[in-house]
Amino acid sequence: MRGPGQTVDVRGSLKRMQKIDNSEYQKRLAQLSEILEGIGRHVTELSKTRCPYKDRHDRCTAKFGCRNQRRGEGRVLLCVGDDKLDYRSAWESSG
Ligand code: SF4
Repeated sequence: MRGPGQTVDVRGSLKRMQKIDNSEYQKRLAQLSEILEGIGRHVTELSKTRCPYKDRHDRCTAKFGCRNQRRGEGRVLLCVGDDKLDYRSAWESSG
């Protein structure tokens, strides 16, 4: 049976949890927030020019035609957009 402040490791051994140093915890939380904010800023900037249908392997996932699409192997569509244009003007819409 586990008591307060105790954990069980992968081998089933009972261990006492280390007390958390609140200032150290706050410092690490601030570091983590800073890292996540940086990622968020980068994503926001990237989303202004990178097409949302382009995956991380530069494949197009759109279900409509686009002049930036090129045939890859099999049924794969590749995106040759340079991420510098307003990609929305390249889309072929039926409406
Ligand atoms: S081919 Fe067109 S729709 Fe597909 S990811 Fe590139 S810009 Fe977007």
